Amino acid sequence: AFNANVAAANDALNAFIVATPEKAIEAAKAVDAKRAKGEAPGKMGGVPIGMKDLFATKGVQTTAASHILEGFAPEYESTVSQRLWDAGAGMLGKLNMDQFAMGSSNETSHFGDVVNPWRAAGGGNAGLAPGGSSGGSSAAVAARLCPAATGTDTGGSIRQPAAFTGITGIKPTYGRCSRWGIVAFASSLDQAGPMARDTRDCAIMLEAMAGFDPKDSTSLDMDVPAWEANLSPDMKGKRVGIPREYRMDGMDADIVKSWEDGVTWLRDAGAEIVDISLPHTKYALPAYYIIAPAEASSNLARYDGVRYGLRELPDGANLQDMYAATRSAGFGAEVKRRILIGTYVLSAGFYDAYYTQAQKVRTLISHDFRNAFAECDVILAPTAPSAAFALGDKSDDPLAMYLNDVFAVPASMAGLPAMSVPAGLNRDGLPLGLQIIGNAFDEQGVLNAGLAIE
Ligand code: GLN
Repeated sequence: AFNANVAAANDALNAFIVATPEKAIEAAKAVDAKRAKGEAPGKMGGVPIGMKDLFATKGVQTTAASHILEGFAPEYESTVSQRLWDAGAGMLGKLNMDQFAMGSSNETSHFGDVVNPWRAAGGGNAGLAPGGSSGGSSAAVAARLCPAATGTDTGGSIRQPAAFTGITGIKPTYGRCSRWGIVAFASSLDQAGPMARDTRDCAIMLEAMAGFDPKDSTSLDMDVPAWEANLSPDMKGKRVGIPREYRMDGMDADIVKSWEDGVTWLRDAGAEIVDISLPHTKYALPAYYIIAPAEASSNLARYDGVRYGLRELPDGANLQDMYAATRSAGFGAEVKRRILIGTYVLSAGFYDAYYTQAQKVRTLISHDFRNAFAECDVILAPTAPSAAFALGDKSDDPLAMYLNDVFAVPASMAGLPAMSVPAGLNRDGLPLGLQIIGNAFDEQGVLNAGLAIE
């Protein structure tokens, strides 16, 4: 049925770059075979999922939505996708995304925009952005092309698209999911996580994705908790922090309203609401847009026309010309912007003024959260400052685009688990998301608060 949904709707949504219907069928048949032998089907037995095109999938094109990787079929499987297959899941295909996960609207993809399946009331047929960078994942789950999908979140790329499409997504604590085999964007921030229809599905899928991996040096050597079995919407005895710095001037009235609704719902579920302060919040976004490009400029140095995908070899070109021609043709504009910013902030004359300062800010942000979690168990905030915006609305204005990450980036900088859950509709009938941020390793607290809101 999901294969049929993909075949019927993908032309309009452009959520999948490649469909692999036979792999989904194979997983379903494996469940039948296991049942016939009296074996358990596995935690994700037979569940067909979409795979963000940032995960290396053996023998299946993996592009990070970039021309520079077009045609690249890895010889290896990412740890996270392998874990999902081991748990019985099957792949419906590779999902569209912002190129190298850089973006908030899925408009930087080499393979074209993804269209949000939601439509504003009275908005005619104007296509809305599905959020980014996991825009193929969010659109595919929202349009029921798959029951769940993988996402990755460096500075909000699971949570913001989940909010824009009325689905649920969680970024776990940095290190929970192995980064091995995931195309690297900013290695100190990148985390994989599930995007699904509700909290329970996210808990199930995250259990399958997470776990120690010796192939990732920042992987957490901790057991994976039984998140699903311990789900509870009872918030009695829990303190929910409301960070006053997230209340920004000129904030959209619908966003304020949904935040207030969230407070009411959690209070009704038994929580105590406390005011907290995260004083360095306003520096998180500028510091992120130094650190993430710095790491990206280094990570993307490997795309040289020799090792992967595209090679541009003009007549009479030497090696240097080949590098330049390949990278000029292969990378999109946003990726080039990040490489230029990153190279600049890491350069000898500017390193201390930008990169070192940004790292100091990052430490202050972590301290803010540490102090806050002395006073509360989880933090409640909006996921994004707006509902889904129209495709084309911000694509010519990088700063406006970056500002959409303002509420998502702080938790990324501190490596904390954070989730977006659907929290009703705005005046135009578009979904809004609420964000729950937890202390390190407390995915359970985050999921439980999500369940209480849901
Ligand atoms: N929108 C942010 C960026 O462009 C976050 C992306 C992400 O989390 N991968 O960097």
